[in-house]
Amino acid sequence: MALPQVEILIDKEKCYLCGSCVAVCPKEAIIIENDEWKFFQEKCIGCKFCVLACPVGALSAKEGE
Ligand code: SF4
Ligand code: SF4
Repeated sequence: MALPQVEILIDKEKCYLCGSCVAVCPKEAIIIENDEWKFFQEKCIGCKFCVLACPVGALSAKEGE
């Protein structure tokens, strides 16, 4: 099943580094390292689980081509 490629964007003002998005990502496309949220586009399959999992709505998905 092909999902459209999305770019996951973060609102760093909202994110408190809880790790919920990291925990639900099936592809390890998000990591928290040195108190910094990081996204790896090449690993992301666009499932948006991370967007749904964030308790403070810090993540959004920008649809790509
Ligand atoms: S959309 Fe899916 S694959 Fe991409 S970062 Fe979020 S949880 Fe991971
Ligand atoms: S789930 Fe939301 S608040 Fe938690 S680390 Fe991810 S983006 Fe930040």
